[in-house]
Amino acid sequence: MKFCSVCAHAVVQKIPPGDNRLRFCCEACGTVHYENPKMVLGTVTTFGGKILLCKRAIEPRYGFWTLPAGFMENGETTAQGAARETLEEAGVEAAIEKLYAVIDVPHVHQTHLFYLASASSDALDPGEESLDAIWVSPEEVPWEQLAFPTVAKTLRWFIEDLPAGMMPLHTDAIRYTPKK
Ligand SMILES: [Zn+2]
Repeated sequence: MKFCSVCAHAVVQKIPPGDNRLRFCCEACGTVHYENPKMVLGTVTTFGGKILLCKRAIEPRYGFWTLPAGFMENGETTAQGAARETLEEAGVEAAIEKLYAVIDVPHVHQTHLFYLASASSDALDPGEESLDAIWVSPEEVPWEQLAFPTVAKTLRWFIEDLPAGMMPLHTDAIRYTPKK
């Protein structure tokens, strides 16, 4: 951040009184611009034993496959956001069933939540953010062409849980280890 979004004055990085972290502070109007992690909401939506995947039409990871997911919007619940993203990206009205995966990704300042959901038909209508949307069986998941580690992790859990059918909540964190 270079300029204050309130008054357009240049901001400086400093630790505000009573705080313990560097923040972007505007010395003209006094606004402290806090930056906090973002929530990414998605679904594992199924129909007839098949899993809904979308092919990304946007960067990052253009052309790679993902579970439908995107950033939470103001004024919605996490379940509503997950259903909205599924509708926007695949044209599928997902009936949300339960929270299934919570994965922190601290190095990109995100937490990813995936809900289990079901569709009432196999009709697809990919939106502008998707090149394509498909239903795949567990054997057909394109593991080498998945967009994000959180998607691969969630799909692995899902396919491992399927035989027992318990589908418990999974939590994890993906930590970035710099290459030497
Ligand atoms: Zn300002």
